[in-house]
Amino acid sequence: MSSTQTEKIECLIIGSGPAGYTAAIYAARADLKPVVYTGLQMGGQLTTTTEVDNFPGYPDGITGPVMMEDLQKQAQRFGTNVRFGIIDKVDFQQHPFKATADDGKVIVADTVIISTGATARWLGIESEKTYNGHGVSACATCDGFFFRGMDVAVVGGGDTACEEASYLAKLCKKVYLIVRRDELRASKPMQHRVMNTENIEIIWNHLPEEITGDGKVVTGARLKNTKTGDTKNIEVQGFFVAIGHTPNTEIFKGQLDLNEQGYIKTVPGSTRTNIAGVFAAGDVQDHVYRQAVTAAGTGCMAAIEAERWLATKE
Ligand code: FAD
Ligand code: NAP
Repeated sequence: MSSTQTEKIECLIIGSGPAGYTAAIYAARADLKPVVYTGLQMGGQLTTTTEVDNFPGYPDGITGPVMMEDLQKQAQRFGTNVRFGIIDKVDFQQHPFKATADDGKVIVADTVIISTGATARWLGIESEKTYNGHGVSACATCDGFFFRGMDVAVVGGGDTACEEASYLAKLCKKVYLIVRRDELRASKPMQHRVMNTENIEIIWNHLPEEITGDGKVVTGARLKNTKTGDTKNIEVQGFFVAIGHTPNTEIFKGQLDLNEQGYIKTVPGSTRTNIAGVFAAGDVQDHVYRQAVTAAGTGCMAAIEAERWLATKE
């Protein structure tokens, strides 16, 4: 292999969402000369949304793409090397660590910060794409505010769906919880919570067949009974899909400890993984909060921990 295909660096950051860029800001300021591989979704999940109203520091709100451009520029201002590319293989069994990019380049890194995020699962129906961002959402904490006083639907029967339904019930007039079976997968306390909330109506044994709208925004949904095949319509302005997330950890299987759902396990209160020198930040290690600000917070932690870990090795 030619030397141009191998590069030795101090800090590799995989992923360019709020966690990755925040880690880069801190790592660059600590003189670790970080290299960020952005992945296919440069800027991460927030580039797929319009308004972000809950990230501190933007009193008038900001659009997701602009916020992520700002974060990128801030990371570059301190010398971060941002590269559009995917890391498709890692070897953490020996130190320094090795990571191979999709152009064949091998990065040899003293520390690695993983911030590859998680991807919301979607139903896979066409109308879901048509109205994404115009009534269809996968995040009640992010978008629930836009549906204050309105009627909304949540699809799913797990803890996430129940949590989203409970959150929305405080803001919205009515919440339909659409469940494909005749029972919830959610934990018992969560089940009790939704069943005891007056403005949540559970629609059992139904699957959304189509999200209906006027071409611009959502106005309702057509649901199919999974037992009888009958269909019925509901009128809603917001449609929340809460059928789970998939952490982007395929390339780390066999390299790092993952939990049952595939999230990277970190030592509580830190971003340390089971391999010393490899850190994980953001949604890739967090199935609970999944917010830009928590991703950024853990990105900061990862960079500080990487810097301190390197210092103890020298
Ligand atoms: P992500 O943003 O998921 O970024 C992951 C990054 O990793 C991407 O850049 C991707 O390209 C990269 N990547 C993945 N695999 C590889 C690889 N193999 N090699 C290199 N790179 C890789 N949160 C809020 O706080 N407020 C909101 O208003 C809000 N609105 C949202 C709206 C939508 C539509 C969605 C989907 C999410 C929203 N969220 C919101 C949640 C927020 O976007 C996430 O919590 C946050 O983006 C997580 O940041 P992250 O850095 O962990 O990962
Ligand atoms: P989950 O437990 O996998 O539940 C997904 C739900 O969506 C299930 O009810 C599933 O139905 C349903 N579903 C899946 N695909 C569907 C489809 N195509 N159409 C309609 N419904 C579909 O996912 P989750 O709720 O995101 O939870 C993930 C993990 O995080 C769990 O371990 C959970 O306990 C945890 N979590 C905990 C909390 C908390 O404790 N506060 C909060 C959120 C999440 P079936 O049941 O029929 O499969």
